[in-house]
Amino acid sequence: MSVMHLPPIEPDDPTDSDAFEALPTPDSDEPSTETLEGAALDEMIERAELADALTITLLKQYTYCPRVVYYETCTPGVRPTTYKMEAGAALHTQEKYRAARRTLAAYQVPEGTRQFDVRLHSAALGLVGMVDELVFMPDEVIPVDYKMSAWLSDNHIIQIAAYGMLAEETFGLPAKRGYVYLLKGKRYAMVEITTALRSEVLAVITDIDRIHLTEYMPPPPENTNKCIACEFKRFCNDV
Ligand code: SF4
Repeated sequence: MSVMHLPPIEPDDPTDSDAFEALPTPDSDEPSTETLEGAALDEMIERAELADALTITLLKQYTYCPRVVYYETCTPGVRPTTYKMEAGAALHTQEKYRAARRTLAAYQVPEGTRQFDVRLHSAALGLVGMVDELVFMPDEVIPVDYKMSAWLSDNHIIQIAAYGMLAEETFGLPAKRGYVYLLKGKRYAMVEITTALRSEVLAVITDIDRIHLTEYMPPPPENTNKCIACEFKRFCNDV
């Protein structure tokens, strides 16, 4: 797997260092958490975490091109939506539910209790996401994602690993592997959620945080063929 990472932060770059300064303390007339207890406090904390959290979709986009993350997080609302994209999303949903009705055993995915469209949230990682399917076994939880693709790619691998890490935190079961159902190839691809892959997920999250917090514009990808079909092409004058 080859995922591009950002260049190191220059120590005298004022833009970057300013962004990582301590957050300001709340105004004295803001509601105090000291008067809140139990469920009310938990709910308030969870809502605050959700509001700040990044989505797992950003990991997929980062793997395609880190600059897409800049457009998504620093210039919200500019993303063009085309008829082709909407039609593609509708077809994905239709095919996903058709595939999900199949018996997993036919594809060597273990049979267990299945839940679909499961919302996940990790306070530790600052991430939210909705995975297409989770399979619950007595000793593990297995994320399953459906992709309109014939081949497994790096962005699928990073995304399924992140779903596994969130599912672990949410349900307290280990996520040792995940499956990507390739709708165009009509097959499941298994992804082992290894220590090295988890480290790669954390490195990508760090890079995404840096882009988001410092409004850092990453360089284009080495493979500029990716730009040909990119919806942000009209904003990138250097490719
Ligand atoms: S046009 Fe190229 S550089 Fe610009 S966001 Fe798309 S893939 Fe990245």
